[in-house]
Amino acid sequence: MNAVPQLPPASPAMNEETVETLLTRAEQARAQGAVGEGLAAAEQAWAATGPETPALRLRAGLLLAHFRYRSGALSAVMDVGLEVAPLLRASGPRTELIDLLRMVALGGSETNRFEEALNAAQEAHRLAVEIRDTARISLCTNVLGCFFERTGDPWQAERLLLEALALARQQPERHPVFAALNNLGATRIGKFYLLRDALTLDEALEPLRQTLPYAREAVALAAAVGDPFFQVFTQGNLGEILVHLDQAEDAQQTLAEALALSEQHGLAEQTWRIGCSLGELELLLGRPQLAWDRLSAVLQAATASDQRTTHMRLHHALWRAARALDQPDLALGHLESYVHLERKRAVTQLRAQSDLFVTRVEAEHMRLEAQRHHARANELEADVRRDSLTGLGNRRELEWRWPELLERVRLDAAPLSVAMLDLDDFKLVNDRFGHAVGDQVLVALGGLFRSHTRLGDLVVRLGGEEFLLALPDTPVTRAFEICERLRDCVATHDWDALAPGLRVTLSVGLSSAPPYDAQGLSMRADAALYRAKADGRNRVVQG
Ligand code: GH3
Ligand code: MG
Ligand code: MG
Repeated sequence: MNAVPQLPPASPAMNEETVETLLTRAEQARAQGAVGEGLAAAEQAWAATGPETPALRLRAGLLLAHFRYRSGALSAVMDVGLEVAPLLRASGPRTELIDLLRMVALGGSETNRFEEALNAAQEAHRLAVEIRDTARISLCTNVLGCFFERTGDPWQAERLLLEALALARQQPERHPVFAALNNLGATRIGKFYLLRDALTLDEALEPLRQTLPYAREAVALAAAVGDPFFQVFTQGNLGEILVHLDQAEDAQQTLAEALALSEQHGLAEQTWRIGCSLGELELLLGRPQLAWDRLSAVLQAATASDQRTTHMRLHHALWRAARALDQPDLALGHLESYVHLERKRAVTQLRAQSDLFVTRVEAEHMRLEAQRHHARANELEADVRRDSLTGLGNRRELEWRWPELLERVRLDAAPLSVAMLDLDDFKLVNDRFGHAVGDQVLVALGGLFRSHTRLGDLVVRLGGEEFLLALPDTPVTRAFEICERLRDCVATHDWDALAPGLRVTLSVGLSSAPPYDAQGLSMRADAALYRAKADGRNRVVQG
């Protein structure tokens, strides 16, 4: 990090032009792979932008996420990533959002922020599937695999990484293949360390045997690309696998090459990791003293590192070396350190799994609750729009459905007929047979209206003994037939069954669109109804 050139701190008064300059500088640095310079420019641009300039803020945030990721500041990647993601969701290209979410997911997996990591990985995966981008689907599946590896589940991780690899091979880009191979290798090496003291050595070695050809392929790909970091990384993986598989000669050569390249490029973490493999190789070759010396030196150099895996390997190897040297006290010390780190790893991962499980269960619980509330709210809302006596819609239902219905027929230039229906002398029915019978008549009419109309028709009780029918896609001549049939069926209904001597008839006034004018439609239908009454009732009149 000391390679970062010291630029003056950003002042809040920095204008857009200055931000633009910083962003251009960061973009150039990105193209050249100049991480330190790009990081400094992006940090300043980020500090100088705020919500009032969302476009600049977005650009600064994306660059900053990139450089923080490249420089290994993974927790900081998440912070900027989570802030920028909503801006991208609102306006940005989906490919950029997917790539940002992948960084957030990897950052979260590496820094035990598993909940955020999983959310980001799943969103990215869903988006990549939506846009059918095979390379990105593979990379997102890969990220999900890394997530499971980090939560201590190499089995799920392996399954996902194999899937990512298969997907990557279906498309022409090299990077997704390479990423899947590397993470598969790392996961299987991790699986070996996890199983080493739990199963027989032969069983524990199985993942390494499986992954050997993939590790060789990764080395070849890295050499073809020519990026020294990836060359060291892949050769380091291959060497480590070869050591444990007892292929000393091959291991020796691979690790020596990797070490030279790693030292040349100052890749400290990789140098320690390779040093550890070389120490284990000495053990394999039956030279415990050489192993001891080498491993002790690496342990001393690596104290500052927080690479828990390398520390665990070192203690494990030093324990074996001390045993071979017949130094039980030294052996015990390293075994204790190893067990301590292993316990810490197990506890951290268990806690993460537990948190994750609880949040998932809670989220699921809340989702179901929300669904129930939603369903209940829908029911209540539907109740409000229903007439409780007849089960038909009421005035609210009319207000609710009418605008859309009218707009739809207007756009389709389709006919629409409206009928106003009113029972004849209903007051007399009540007077003669009682209000309860009157109610039952209304209930029976509700049933008759429903059975004589289509699902798309609107049938409402406007109040009292007045009803409205709206018949979309129905010209007035057809509506007349429908209403006439309805009138006849009411008049000839077996009302005697309800109350001997009971007779019920209705009058109907009809109007139709076009023109698509709500007020005109109802006024014309009303006027027609009035005429039907005046002409002697029990009839349909077309307005
Ligand atoms: P017209 O042929 O001119 O329409 O005569 P009508 O008697 O039907 O007209 P009017 O509007 O004078 O009376 C409507 C009656 O409908 C008055 C009221 O008693 C009755 N009514 C309104 N709502 C209900 C109800 O929910 N249940 C019952 N049983 N009767 C109702
Ligand atoms: Mg009336
Ligand atoms: Mg009436």
